[in-house]
Amino acid sequence: MVDCIDNDEHIIHILDKAISGTVLGEVNPLRRRDHLQQHTGQHILSQAFIQIAKAETRGFHLGTDSSTIDLEIDQISPELIAKAEDLANKIIFENRPIQIHLTNEKDKFPIRKDTERENSIRIIEIQEFDFSPCGGTHAHQSGEVGLIVIRSIERVKRLWRVEFLCGQRALLDYRAAHQTAIETAKLFSAARDKSPELVIKLQQELKDLQKHNRELLNQALSVEATNIYNTSTPNSNNLRIVKATFNRSLDELKTLAQLLVAQPSIVALLATTLESPKIIFACSNDIDIDCGTLLSQFCKEFGGRGGGKAEFAQGGLPIGTEFETALESLAKSL
Ligand SMILES: [Zn+2]
Repeated sequence: MVDCIDNDEHIIHILDKAISGTVLGEVNPLRRRDHLQQHTGQHILSQAFIQIAKAETRGFHLGTDSSTIDLEIDQISPELIAKAEDLANKIIFENRPIQIHLTNEKDKFPIRKDTERENSIRIIEIQEFDFSPCGGTHAHQSGEVGLIVIRSIERVKRLWRVEFLCGQRALLDYRAAHQTAIETAKLFSAARDKSPELVIKLQQELKDLQKHNRELLNQALSVEATNIYNTSTPNSNNLRIVKATFNRSLDELKTLAQLLVAQPSIVALLATTLESPKIIFACSNDIDIDCGTLLSQFCKEFGGRGGGKAEFAQGGLPIGTEFETALESLAKSL
């Protein structure tokens, strides 16, 4: 069987091949048990949210991995979630009988949600807890649901969607979460529940190292800039033109350019071929060159984009662009 559809009047079985005559159907016991646990669990959880937060269930979806109910409530907190989860599990652990009432007098029962059906109504009672008109498959005792866990919540329009798992699904989810926690803790050679504090410590150490690394890099760049300046010679216009191509990050290049043009009468034309070609074009503020306009024109010729201020500009070129010769003649033209 491919699917089974309840269209209110009939139960329709969708098959993958034609059949004729009488056939014997067989219920898949594992699937039935799974659906029974999720569905009965939903009755219990919906009532728990009413008792804890006066939150009515406006929608229910039984998914293949997890199920959801949509609650009518403005605000929801982790504390409230825990309270509803505790109450739902209390009802499960008490193993309350679940009874089916077939009645024509629905008004005699304190039903959770009204139904448009008249005459014979099927009401499911979880003893002294919840009465719901329903035609689905339910447990005989609440204990069969095993366990209810709420996995996540999210705002959906004006409702709160609560994702939950019951019975075997809760066990499998616990096993997976436990395995994840164990494997994470193993990386620290620590006990399972120690991981969060160790990750926080590791993040702080990483931040400190990055800060230290930046400071060292800035020192190195400062020395490099001084060396470049000292070894450069002014051209006929009395400008020191520094042209170089590196395989370094753009941030590093920017810092180096800034350090260079902090000196008087120097122009920096620095390129990097790391990932795609990028160019920094900067000059000291005593030089009358419009780096932004010049670099914009330069990049446009190669199908790239560039621009910026008169003293500091940057641009990008398509991957594989042969720009070196053009950059050389740009440097010579200054
Ligand atoms: Zn039901």
